[in-house]
Amino acid sequence: MSEKAVFIEQPGGPEQLKLVEVEVGAPGPGEIRIRHVACGLNYIDVYHRNGTYPLPLPARLGMEGAGVVEAVGEGVTHLQVGDRAAYASQPPGAYATARVMPAKAVLKLPNDIAFDTAAAMMLKGLTVQYLLRKTLPQGGLQAGDFVLFHAAAGGVGLIACQWARALGLQLIGTAGSDEKCALALEHGATHAINYRSQPDFAAQVRDITGGRGVKVVYDSVGADTWAGSLDSLAPFGLLASFGGASGPVPPINIGTLAAKGSVYVTRPTLFTHLSTRESAQAMGDELFDIVRSGQVKVRIAGRYALGDAAQAHRDLEARQLLGSAVLLP
Ligand code: NDP
Repeated sequence: MSEKAVFIEQPGGPEQLKLVEVEVGAPGPGEIRIRHVACGLNYIDVYHRNGTYPLPLPARLGMEGAGVVEAVGEGVTHLQVGDRAAYASQPPGAYATARVMPAKAVLKLPNDIAFDTAAAMMLKGLTVQYLLRKTLPQGGLQAGDFVLFHAAAGGVGLIACQWARALGLQLIGTAGSDEKCALALEHGATHAINYRSQPDFAAQVRDITGGRGVKVVYDSVGADTWAGSLDSLAPFGLLASFGGASGPVPPINIGTLAAKGSVYVTRPTLFTHLSTRESAQAMGDELFDIVRSGQVKVRIAGRYALGDAAQAHRDLEARQLLGSAVLLP
């Protein structure tokens, strides 16, 4: 049966995204075929499209989706035909009506989580899970601790604000407008800084924390925030640099880490955490639990037809989305 999928022939702007007819065959060993009800939009899709993270060409896009399992390959035991399922997974290919893909990181979706919610939260929510629960400073994080989270009103950011509140953390969120700051506060940030109108956010972090700085900075903005993030850390603090929406982080002189107070830097990626089925399931279970408890609600700020993926990318890059967005096949 003929299906549709979004491809790029070469890296470039949103105009490179083309919806084309494809054949979707039967799953091989360790694979499933899934029919998508919704696909997630993520900033990593922009890096794939523009060549920041190069893909073999022509390439499909999309790392996150939710739908119904249509066929199961040999050796797959945790999923059956007819199961509701959701995933954040490599390789890209979620922008499609249906696809064959590795089953390892595909999880059974609880009946009380809607498909569009799942598609909007798997990659972002699993990212927040590993950032707040596994990427920790020496001694871990305790209720009351200060953390700094950049782009706090984005897809990952709004989930982080709520999850941090559930953990009792004091999350200082940064965002690019007063409206976004208000949204971060509404979702559980204890403080918010508009880093466009007040670029010296590190000075404000010092004020808020009584001069000490934060235990962890979660930085997905990269080039524009890197220096201020280092300046926001408490001694022995941890800078988790997990993205570069404003461009890559500049080369670092390791001596800087001593000068800033024996601080630590890590550059984690979700896909290391999802590399075994056991880890993917354990992380997914925690995400499903916190969403079902009502402590984390997923804000879907944009819904686009699959054929409008280019517009979705334009809106994401223009910083217009307040929360997550989905593509609907
Ligand atoms: P967002 O919805 O957060 O969108 C990105 C946000 O970055 C924008 O809304 C904007 O918020 C901010 N931003 C700052 N500077 C720029 C700029 N120059 N251009 C565009 N945006 C800018 O996206 P996602 O929730 O999908 O992802 C958030 C970040 O997390 C991304 O950088 C992504 O790559 C990273 N990520 C990393 C993972 C990992 O494991 N390493 C996994 C998942 C996501 P504002 O206007 O408030 O500044």
